[in-house]
Amino acid sequence: MIVISEPGNAHDCAAWMGRVIEACRDAIATEENRLCDLDRAIGDGDHGTNMRRGLEALASERQRLSAMPFAEAMIAAGTILVMNIGGAAGPLYGTLLLEIGKGLSIDGLEFPQVFQKAVTAVAQRGRSSPGDKTLLDVLYPLSDELTKHTHPQRLAGKVQGFADMTIEMKALRGRASFLGERSVGHMDPGAASCALLAATVCRELTEAGVA
Ligand code: ADP
Ligand code: MG
Repeated sequence: MIVISEPGNAHDCAAWMGRVIEACRDAIATEENRLCDLDRAIGDGDHGTNMRRGLEALASERQRLSAMPFAEAMIAAGTILVMNIGGAAGPLYGTLLLEIGKGLSIDGLEFPQVFQKAVTAVAQRGRSSPGDKTLLDVLYPLSDELTKHTHPQRLAGKVQGFADMTIEMKALRGRASFLGERSVGHMDPGAASCALLAATVCRELTEAGVA
């Protein structure tokens, strides 16, 4: 991630960004029904549809985004996600990318620090914490792994485990919290989409050999 944001690499970066967006769109499209099923169990059943709409909007703008400097593209992508995912997840995914873009524009911050600050901003936006059974239960451990410089290939194999940990949690935020104890025993849909997207980005990083 740090390498691809360096200016000398603009052409490779643009091509890579386009591929990542397509891969994320395809991954979400493939898993749309599973994400809806997870949300049907503890929410209102629309998470897969919301995510597909967001990723399709992102994919339709991939050429414009790929032509931008990386930090600017993250900010623009965050805005697209806020406007198109909708629901509770849209503003949270949007905040993540917007804050990554803002953080990358600050001199002297390395990507793991940028990501950590962005995750904190998502938590503030959702007034939620790790352990509440949300996508933050994937973002926080992911941030810790980035700080430890875990190789993306290894990380791709680990993130689903973070989403699995939400199965035994009781939801304290979002629609699932209305179920109280009955939310236990189901994977959080936002954690599932977040793990899927993180694994997809990690695989693309590995394939591009940029990590
Ligand atoms: P909605 O709940 O409005 O239908 P989605 O189904 O698209 O929206 O997204 C639900 C997901 O959003 C949840 O599974 C959870 O991961 C995440 N989420 C909901 N509320 C919060 C919150 N306050 N903080 C963090 N994540 C949240
Ligand atoms: Mg929902």
